Amino acid sequence: MTAVAIQGVWKFYGDYPALKDISLSVNPGSCLALIGRNGAGKTTLLRILAGLSKTAKGSITILGQDARDENTRRRIGVLGHGIGVYEELSAFENLRLFAKLYGIADPQKIASEWLERTGLERVRDGLVREFSRGMRQRLAVARTFLHNPSVLLLDEPFTALDDRAIAVLQDLLKTALAEGRTIIMSTHQLREALELATGVALINRGKLAFTGPRTREMLEDPAWLYRNYGEA
Ligand code: ATP
Repeated sequence: MTAVAIQGVWKFYGDYPALKDISLSVNPGSCLALIGRNGAGKTTLLRILAGLSKTAKGSITILGQDARDENTRRRIGVLGHGIGVYEELSAFENLRLFAKLYGIADPQKIASEWLERTGLERVRDGLVREFSRGMRQRLAVARTFLHNPSVLLLDEPFTALDDRAIAVLQDLLKTALAEGRTIIMSTHQLREALELATGVALINRGKLAFTGPRTREMLEDPAWLYRNYGEA
């Protein structure tokens, strides 16, 4: 079964077509790097996959089910631009809350484990509103992973992370792939993303300009794709 199947998807903001007839399929255990210039439509596509935005036309299935089903949502982990953690709660309280919402058996234990894995143990009782951007992003990473999602949808996951946190995230993503999970991530940081990616999709102004396996050529010269398939 395909992990994520996108079929003929269109999205309009008013009469502006942000996505034009996008079709893509992503196999289980693979990692798709979604690339494209600012405003190409990457965030729009990820929000649709996450069930946060509707399409005008086309269909999306995730693990064989509609992206907007409640059951599907439990099986995906989303890391977006809006960080999605509560400002007035501590790091620990945030993770315990999300663990409870996902129906995890021992929320306290899982919350503590993820604080440790993301290097936030030391500030577990600090309120998020006092956190730096990098700390919030690490907490958001913990929230994304804590329910063991089968599909990870990550919008610019490396942005705002410090070097150590980038290494932590790369490790988590490698482990996720080794466990057969599926990753779709948008990125401007081509080098970090291409290292991990098994496939690449390039979007130009809402249209899919290239899709295919990640090759050695791309890894050695990340600008290659833009030169060959980007806008003039
Ligand atoms: P970036 O790399 O800058 O995040 P992106 O590839 O993620 O860009 P999107 O955020 O998906 O691009 O935006 C695609 C297009 O749709 C852009 O032209 C943007 O201005 C427009 N757009 C996005 N969200 C809205 C909205 N809520 N209302 C109107 N237009 C929007």
